[in-house]
Amino acid sequence: MIQIKGLSKIYRTDELETKALNAVNFDVKKGEFISIMGPSGCGKSTLLNIIGLLDSFDGGTYDFLDKSMTGLKEKQRSAIRKEKIGFVFQNFNLIDELSVFENIELPLIYNKVSKSERQNKVNEILERMNIAHRAKHFPQQLSGGQQQRVAVARALVCEPALILADEPTGNLDSKNGNEVMELLTDLHQQGATIIMVTHSAYDANFSNKIIELKDGQIVAEKQNKKLIEIV
Ligand code: ADP
Ligand code: MG
Repeated sequence: MIQIKGLSKIYRTDELETKALNAVNFDVKKGEFISIMGPSGCGKSTLLNIIGLLDSFDGGTYDFLDKSMTGLKEKQRSAIRKEKIGFVFQNFNLIDELSVFENIELPLIYNKVSKSERQNKVNEILERMNIAHRAKHFPQQLSGGQQQRVAVARALVCEPALILADEPTGNLDSKNGNEVMELLTDLHQQGATIIMVTHSAYDANFSNKIIELKDGQIVAEKQNKKLIEIV
């Protein structure tokens, strides 16, 4: 699904040049659940954002779903992003002024889905995520764990080819964090392809492959034996 070769990313400000990614090679197959780990500032979010077409890159090649993503303009990136990729962020990124229903409906509006189909799809996913009783509530009326469930629902409602999660449990206590990880694990078992950035070795154990970044380079890649034994 993803082939990345020799990927590099340099952030330039007036004074400073930061090489956030340096010659990264990274492949993802359909149905994999991959964790990206590594110290703060090593380039995890940069890699995830490039994969998610939220950010451009300076060198190397990136193919997604058998199409080259190299040298695309923002307009082309955004079209692919809206249709094919669902994001879950550490801080949930819900819109406070919109209800749970409206937050989940938003990607469908962006993708110009008709109103009746939007109703059906949002209701279906509300049921699937066990948050139907919260449809009319606003994000601030929910616990962190419930907010992240809404964010996962929003990421899934367009049935994306790829789910990207950047420290999805980072703002949650262990009970709520576990619920979100169980949700991601269920999705993976139903066939979803997921790439997750995490600080937590515990959370990484839910995935089937762990890659470790350091100073913008992949320094280790391992299959998650624990998970393989369980399966
Ligand atoms: P991580 O997610 O692993 O903590 P990041 O990918 O966010 O790391 O950042 C990698 C490096 O790139 C860091 O040194 C960070 O300061 C720098 N960086 C990230 N985003 C920007 C930006 N928008 N402008 C300048 N530097 C950035
Ligand atoms: Mg980060």
